[in-house]
Amino acid sequence: MSLFKSKKQPVATNYPPQNSLADLALVNIHDGVMILNNSGTVQYFNPAAARMLGINAADATRLNLGLLLRVESTDGRQLAENENLLLQAVHSGRPLEDYKICFFIFSTNKRIPVSVSVIPVNDQNGSRIVTFRNIAKELAEDSEQTEFISTASHEMRTPVASIEGYLSLALNPQTATIDERARGYLNAAHISAKHLGQLFHDLLDATKLDDGQLRPKLQPVEMTGLVKQIADQLYPQIREAGLKYQFGSVSTEADTARRINQVVYGYVDVSFMGEIIDNLLGNAIKYTPTGGSVYVNVRGDGDRVLINVTDTGIGISNDDLPHIFQKFYRSDNSDTRTIGGTGLGLYIVKKRVEAMGGRVWAESAFGEGSTFYVSLPRISGEEYEKRMINSNKLQGGTQ
Ligand code: ADP
Repeated sequence: MSLFKSKKQPVATNYPPQNSLADLALVNIHDGVMILNNSGTVQYFNPAAARMLGINAADATRLNLGLLLRVESTDGRQLAENENLLLQAVHSGRPLEDYKICFFIFSTNKRIPVSVSVIPVNDQNGSRIVTFRNIAKELAEDSEQTEFISTASHEMRTPVASIEGYLSLALNPQTATIDERARGYLNAAHISAKHLGQLFHDLLDATKLDDGQLRPKLQPVEMTGLVKQIADQLYPQIREAGLKYQFGSVSTEADTARRINQVVYGYVDVSFMGEIIDNLLGNAIKYTPTGGSVYVNVRGDGDRVLINVTDTGIGISNDDLPHIFQKFYRSDNSDTRTIGGTGLGLYIVKKRVEAMGGRVWAESAFGEGSTFYVSLPRISGEEYEKRMINSNKLQGGTQ
C-alpha cells in the first residue's frame, strides 16, 4: 500500500476511534494536531493534520516527520538545523508558540504556510503535542495591508524630508533671521518633523520585513569583531549622554573575564547586525540617565552566539516586559513620556534577528537597568574557513 494517498482521498473519520469527547474534538477540529516523540517520530496525526499534509494518518505514524516534510521559512528558504526552532523544540522539549514557517510536503510537492505550536508532555516517551494551522489567507491579507502601508510611508517620506530641510534652513542663523519666539515654534515643528521622518522610515522597514522584501544576505563573520566595530561607532553618542561604556564581559569572575573578546563565528547579514546593535545600544543610551553605564558583550554559548546589550537605566516594569517587542508598544511612565521614540525599533530588531534564525529577549529590573539578549546560530572555526573559501571562490568566479 502506498504511504501517501492523494489529497482528495477522504480521511477516515473513525481514526482514531471516537471513544471520548476529547477524541471527538481531535477528529473534527480544523487545526492539525500531531503527537511526536522527542526524536520527531510521529505517534499520532489527527484527520486535519493528515488532510493538510496530504497523507494517510494511519500509514504515516511511526515515521519520522523529516521523511514527510521539510521546514522552510515563510519566504521559502530552507532552514538549517540550528535555525529550525520547531526541530529544536521537539528535541529539547522547550515549548514553542505561534512559530510561522512553511511545510514543504514531499508527497505533494506543495508548500503550505503554517503557524506551529509545540507543547511538551511530561511522559516517558518525551511526547510533544504539535498543533498547526494553515495561515495562507492571513499572509495574503497581511501582504495587502503591508503593501498599502509601504506605499503610503514611501510617498510621505519625501514631503516630510522637505519640511525637515526647510525648517533646518529657517533655524540656521546663516540662512535665516527669526525672532526668539518664532525660533521656539520652529524648533518644536522641527522635532515633530524629525519624529515623523523616523516613523515613516521605521514603518517602511517594518513592512518590508513583514512581507519578506528585506531578506538577509548571510555570510560567514567573526562576530565579536563585527559587533565591537558597530557598537564603538556609537561612542560619540554615549559620551554626549554622559555614560560609561565597556565592550566585553563586565564580570570580575575569572572565567567570564577570560571570555572578553572571545572569537566566535556566525553566519549573519552584516547590515542586519548593524541595525540590530544600533537599535539596542541606541535604546540603552536613550533610556539611561547621565552617569549610568552601557555594556556590550559577545560570547559563544554551545551552538549559539550570544550577544548582550546591558544598561543601568530606567528599566522596564514586569507589566511592560512581555509587550515591548510588539509593534508601536511603548511603556507609558513619566520617564518614557519625555523620551522620543516610535515604538517600532524593537519590533524591527525582532524581525531582523528571526530572519537570521535567531531569538531576542530582554531581562530587566524596573529602576535598575535592562539587558537585551540576541542569540544567533554559531558556526565552528572550520566551517567559517570553509564558507569563506567558498564565498571567495564565488566572488572570484563572477569577476
Ligand atoms: P522606542 O522607539 O519607543 O524606543 P522600541 O521599540 O525601541 O521603541 O522600544 C519599545 C519600548 O521598550 C520603549 O518605548 C521603552 O519603553 C522600552 N525600552 C526599550 N529599550 C529599553 C531600555 N534599554 N531601557 C528601558 N526601556 C526600554
